[in-house]
Parts: sequence; structure tokens; C-alpha cells
Amino acid sequence: MYTTELTKYSAKADIGQTSRILVVEDEELIREMLVVALEEEGYEVITAADGRAAVECLKNCQSNAGELSFDLVVLDLMLPQINGLDICRLMRHQGNSVPILMLSAKGSETDRVLGLEVGADDYLTKPFSMREMVARCRALLRRQRLSILPQIPVLKYKDVSLNAQECRVLVRGKEVNLSPKEFRLLELFMSYARRVWSREQLLDQVWGPDFVGDSKTVDVHIRWLREKLEQDPSHPEYIVTVRGFGYRFG
Ligand code: CA
Repeated sequence: MYTTELTKYSAKADIGQTSRILVVEDEELIREMLVVALEEEGYEVITAADGRAAVECLKNCQSNAGELSFDLVVLDLMLPQINGLDICRLMRHQGNSVPILMLSAKGSETDRVLGLEVGADDYLTKPFSMREMVARCRALLRRQRLSILPQIPVLKYKDVSLNAQECRVLVRGKEVNLSPKEFRLLELFMSYARRVWSREQLLDQVWGPDFVGDSKTVDVHIRWLREKLEQDPSHPEYIVTVRGFGYRFG
């Protein structure tokens, strides 16, 4: 009844090519920490130490017809020469829609609102943890990718089908009830079949970067999900444990 569509969906996992991030930060120590944290995640990072250098970088990438384009800009608010708000405003004015994560030492609500008003997509107040910064970047990059992917209303693999629009899951022809977190977890797995996810990545994607708790939460939800999907939960064929790494679907 259901076809094996693994190859079709695994194509979505291929979009995990290296993203290029522009980091604009005048404080050297913070800039270096940002670079290390983002490079560790496998991103390509280019830096600018002041506002003028940032504008120069962005101008170069536009004139190179996208060859050197950025997928994300991490932008400090207080910068010498041209400040972050003006850079943000300028980018949006020029029709550059690349996601922007704004950083600021100021924590007031007005800065935050102003940052978002001039076109930043997210905002982090210093001091922040590098883990949170990376999670926010990942979320922004992912959101952008999803927006350019065609919507696939029904995901199918073997005897499991998931209808994202109707929030329904059928297993061997029968509807099963999933909690919102279980549903979101399964949707993520099925959208990127065979991709291996670490517990931390799953926490970021499903629970969000603000979630406080440990990765055992993931294991518990995986166990519940297996009980609903698998014919033999102790020998899973859908949600497979990848020892030392995490989990994958299919
Ligand atoms: Ca600064």
C-alpha cells in the first residue's frame, strides 16, 4: 500500500551543504569565540571587525553574483564606523534577505524591538552562551531552508505515513495518537530520512534553544514513539539507534 520513498526524501538531507556565515564583531575575543564555535559546527566563517568592512564584504558578495553569498549574518549592534542597525537597514533596503542574528551588549526591550524592526530575524543579548548562539544560527538557517523547500504534504516510509497539514499519523493503516513533541520529532525524522541526529540537535530542533533540561528527555520521547510505531520496539526498524551518535530514521 505504501511505497518506500526513502531515496526521494533523503535528497532533502543533501541540502546540508556548508553554510557560509558572516560574523561582524569588533571585540576581538568575542569574534574569535564566535568563529571557533561556528567552525566547530562545520560552517564556513568570514569575519569583519567593523561596520565598513562588513558593508564591503556584503557588497563584494553581491557583485560576485551569489558565488560568495552568505547564508547568515551574525551582526553586533555597537560597531565602529557603521553600526549594526544601519547595516541591517541597508541590507534590507538593498533587498538582501539573508537571515540576521543581532548581538548586543544592551539588553533593553527598545534595542531588541528596534533590531527586529529594522529587519533582524533574531536577537541575542551579551553575555550569551556559545551553545545558544549556535542553536539560534542553526534554527535560522534551517528556517530559511525549509522556506525554499517544496512543501511535501504527506511523508511516507514503509508502513508509516505522516500528514503534516492534518497532523495525522497512520501506522500499518491505523491512526495513532502522538503528542505534539512526538509528532514534531517524527516529522523531523521523516523529513530527513537516514540523517543521523545527535540528542542535542534533536533538543534544539524539537524543544527549541531555550529548553532547559537534559538529553534524557529525547531518549524518553524516542521510547514512546517506538512503542507507537514499531512492531517490536526492542528491535526498531524505523527509529534506529546509532551508537555513539544518536538516532536516525529508516
Ligand atoms: Ca561591539
